Amino acid sequence: MKALVKSALGAQNVELLDIPEPTPGNGELKVRVLAAGICGSDIHAIYDKRETVLPVTLGHEYVGQVVETCGDTCGFQVGDWVLTIPACYNCGTCELCRAGLVTLCKSHRSLGFHINGTMADYLVVPARYSFHVPDTAISLQEKISYALAEPLACIIRGVYEKVDVTPGDTVVVSGPGIMGQFAVQAFKARGAYVILSGLPQDEEKLRLAKTLGADETVASLEALKKAVFSRSPGGANITCEATGLIPSLESCMQVIRPLGTHLQIGMFGGKVPCRLDDLFNREVLYVPSNSSSLSAWKTMLALLAQGTLTMGPFVSLMLPLSRWKEGFDAAARKAVYKAVLIPDALFSEISPDDIRLPKATSFL
Ligand SMILES: [Zn+2]
Ligand SMILES: [Zn+2]
Repeated sequence: MKALVKSALGAQNVELLDIPEPTPGNGELKVRVLAAGICGSDIHAIYDKRETVLPVTLGHEYVGQVVETCGDTCGFQVGDWVLTIPACYNCGTCELCRAGLVTLCKSHRSLGFHINGTMADYLVVPARYSFHVPDTAISLQEKISYALAEPLACIIRGVYEKVDVTPGDTVVVSGPGIMGQFAVQAFKARGAYVILSGLPQDEEKLRLAKTLGADETVASLEALKKAVFSRSPGGANITCEATGLIPSLESCMQVIRPLGTHLQIGMFGGKVPCRLDDLFNREVLYVPSNSSSLSAWKTMLALLAQGTLTMGPFVSLMLPLSRWKEGFDAAARKAVYKAVLIPDALFSEISPDDIRLPKATSFL
């Protein structure tokens, strides 16, 4: 089968290889990949900025269909559509694993970093850490959108499990990329009044957020301040930084209220020159949220099945696996919400009538 393999240190050592199809062990599912999402952390893996065990097939975001099972597979059957939490190999017994926080387990191994991942024709995953795609996802296009479930689960972990939201709270989400857009939807689902903050060049993204429920969108710090303080003179109850960029964090600090909560979703990827007294002076709670939990996946899937959340508009580029470089380039340039790779054999079967890229790709 074809697989996108990082074989050694050095960004040049990534190529599409022919490797044997994996065989499921006890409790595992063999899955035919339908689509694999390209994540910033995959780019980090290519550039050796993220711990990997090499050689490894890249990719941790995916949706696929079970083609073979082995032993006790927790109710999964051949033909089922499936998703898996990336940190699906772990000790299973520590306090964190028992709480479903497998990504924080000291001995976890993740798809695409430590064990072969999703950018391939097939992969093997433990049934125990896998989830059924809701049967409300009927069309091929809807199923493909589930390749975006993993980043959405990370947002649900942050918004549903790490912060308290009271209906009517003023929430600022800073950054209208895919994570910010997902955060807007999740805070809306929790009853907050959500202001999405971006830059003048984000017009298209801000417009999309409006159609998906953002109460207000702003494109400058001045407009953000005006929006926040006219609704909530004390400042925002919650700010959520979703870019990993310092000016975005600074904007959050300018509008958060005393005793407010700051949810950090973006990864800075280096030293952060910030004044911790911004937090100290106003006794702001700084809450980092990284990765997902088993319970967040369940909450997310229920919300998706209800139609409360949507991922479809954020699939902005679909490519056959063999054209992975174009997808990674687009992701690195942040020219897409999300690029997905589809195994070539499947890609060639998809007719243009099955797939329509959403309009929101015009910022490409
Ligand atoms: Zn990811
Ligand atoms: Zn553990």
